[in-house]
Amino acid sequence: MHGDHIFGLMGLLASCGLSGSAQNIDLYGPGGLADYLRACSKYSYTNFENRVRVRAVAPGLVWEDSEFVVMCDRLKHRVPAYGYRIVEKDRPGRFDAEKARAMGIPPGPIYGRLKRGETVELPDGRRIRGAQLCGETETGRKIAYCTDTIFCETAITLAENVDVLIHEATFAHQDADMAFERLHSTSTMAAQVALAANAKQLILTHFSPRYAPGNSLQLSDLLAEARAIFPNTMLSQDFLTYEVPRRRAVSLAV
Ligand SMILES: [Zn+2]
Repeated sequence: MHGDHIFGLMGLLASCGLSGSAQNIDLYGPGGLADYLRACSKYSYTNFENRVRVRAVAPGLVWEDSEFVVMCDRLKHRVPAYGYRIVEKDRPGRFDAEKARAMGIPPGPIYGRLKRGETVELPDGRRIRGAQLCGETETGRKIAYCTDTIFCETAITLAENVDVLIHEATFAHQDADMAFERLHSTSTMAAQVALAANAKQLILTHFSPRYAPGNSLQLSDLLAEARAIFPNTMLSQDFLTYEVPRRRAVSLAV
């Protein structure tokens, strides 16, 4: 609930043009978020007409649908702060209907079963495994988002085997005493989390303004010290977009 994380929220919601749109917005965040938005709405005379619904999160499952699972857990900070793990579910490979027809499998509900990977027995006695007719399973991608926090085991658990870990790096290693005092991370702590979690990519964010160009320590120093521990590290910046690459599942020939 610190200002650096929520001061932009009212502006963003106002920009969403909720009055003209039929879409509702669900917000997930720590307790207190609903009160904060209610107060902002009241004193700025901004009416969201119940289009914004706030859901307070607690450690565990935040959301699940057919495509995604979102989990959260408590990080280690001076105020309640949560880290998130977003997992895209694996998708079965594309069903090759042409190949099925070529094999003389009559179209019908049987195709649905093969598509789901089931093994079916045909009227002529042949047993067909669905996997024979499906492309490779598309492995779902995973990302974790951890800020604000000092180095903690929870962050490692949330980031286990993720494709991308977005982790705060408020301070340089040299300023670790300030990190311990304020319960924020150094860039080296973020790198240690990425390494311990076996993440594939680390994106650092949430930097102290003290590392501005011209100062004795700069963001390039934070990047260099993180890369010494975890080479696949990059710095975030405003409007950065990063496409999480899809990785092929390791298929075992049986
Ligand atoms: Zn913050």
